[in-house]
Amino acid sequence: MMKPRNSIAKSIFQKFKNVSNPRKPPFSSSSILESIPREKVDCLVIGAGIVGIAVAKELSVNHGRQVLVLDSAPIFGTGTSSRNSEVIHAGIYYPTNSLKASFCVRGKELLYKYCKDHEIPHKQIGKLIVATGLSEVPRLSTLMTRGIQNGVEGLRMMEGYEATTLEPELQCVKALWSPSSGIVDSHSLMLSLVGEAESHGTTFSYNTAVIGGHIEGNQIQIHVSGSNAIANWNGRSELDSELILIPKLVVNSAGLSAPAIAKRMKGLPDGIIPASHYARGCYFTLSNTKSPFKHLIYPIPEVGGLGVHVTLDLNGQVKFGPDVEWIKGIDDIPSFLNMFDYSVREDRANQFYPAIRKYYPSLKDGSLEPGYAGIRPKLSGPEEGPTDFVVQGEDIHGISGLVNLFGIESPGLTSSMAIAEHVAAKLLK
Ligand SMILES: Cc1cc2nc3c(=O)[nH]c(=O)nc-3n(C[C@H](O)[C@H](O)[C@H](O)COP(=O)(O)OP(=O)(O)OC[C@H]3O[C@@H](n4cnc5c(N)ncnc54)[C@H](O)[C@@H]3O)c2cc1C
Repeated sequence: MMKPRNSIAKSIFQKFKNVSNPRKPPFSSSSILESIPREKVDCLVIGAGIVGIAVAKELSVNHGRQVLVLDSAPIFGTGTSSRNSEVIHAGIYYPTNSLKASFCVRGKELLYKYCKDHEIPHKQIGKLIVATGLSEVPRLSTLMTRGIQNGVEGLRMMEGYEATTLEPELQCVKALWSPSSGIVDSHSLMLSLVGEAESHGTTFSYNTAVIGGHIEGNQIQIHVSGSNAIANWNGRSELDSELILIPKLVVNSAGLSAPAIAKRMKGLPDGIIPASHYARGCYFTLSNTKSPFKHLIYPIPEVGGLGVHVTLDLNGQVKFGPDVEWIKGIDDIPSFLNMFDYSVREDRANQFYPAIRKYYPSLKDGSLEPGYAGIRPKLSGPEEGPTDFVVQGEDIHGISGLVNLFGIESPGLTSSMAIAEHVAAKLLK
């Protein structure tokens, strides 16, 4: 039986404190597995990014389930969920009938409603996708057709002069106007969802990492360790788990680390976990200048991303980005502590200036300053086509009560509540 609220977190930490950890053989040894303390839980969510938080809120608030959320970081939302453009996407770019298209359109609706109902700072400022040369116009038309097929309302093609009436600093030959695009304060959003989930019995346990799992009978068992044990791990011996959780339902929403966690779950069929690829996206800000734009400005999308675009925050500050830089991953265990390289090299600005000047010709030399970076959890590499979100349930891996979420890149923030709705329906059917 599930323990009352908060006792799980207490017991997790209690167990971490009490587990004496002299030299143990690897956890793959069944005798050692037997000696590790165990705890039953109702629903376990791995990862407190926007998606995991939305899932926890959905399960606890709308379905009355008892939820435990584990995150290896000291607080929620320190991964990709705090390293993005904070744009509420309309749902234009994604192939019709893809999960990205349907979750984005549904997620946008849920997100705007949630923001209004809970006074989360947001603004429906609209977006212009711009063709800066005649050769790009057919691609703009394709985007418009696709957006309409995806159910995006209000899309309208504009001549360049009309777009520059809206945005005098803009240069383009045509633009696609998307009035339902907007921006949101993602931290306030996460804070509100966490609060709601907590007030419906969800427990968040931070500095608590999932390091693997196994299937016993028809039960999934999740191996947990304190993040400090990972930080102190010597990298050579097996990493021991300090607690085994036995949940009825598990949602693996660990973002960049979700595939690595799934790979460490013994008993999942071979070959179902997709390869991980990583594409860093850097942002640059404008020094000492007010934003030249009032709306979101996006170029035609590029391979791996949406192009170096203009995003505004709710204070009207402008940022440009993200670009696309394919990077090598890191080993699974360091990834659990988010030890990815988020540095923004100053010299990347050399590629930003020409990209931005295609639509903002008066950008001054020396005006860009390094901002921050995020990393896209990709399921395909630079030479491969784009992939859809992967929501992997029993129908794929054969394990009842487990959903793996892979490749939740953009528009994952916009889609988060729709993903949560879908995951709950899949698990509770
Ligand atoms: C550059 C960039 C720009 C983007 N812009 C937008 C945008 O404008 N609009 C939009 O809709 N989307 C955007 N996205 C996508 C969006 O940010 C993501 O889809 C979303 O944040 C993913 O949330 P998540 O909860 O799946 O992952 P994360 O936020 O990464 O959360 C995963 C959590 O799992 C935890 N974790 C990892 N390993 C373990 C472990 N072993 N045990 C326990 N916990 C663990 C991490 O600490 C982390 O908190 C962008 C993404 C990038 C990279």
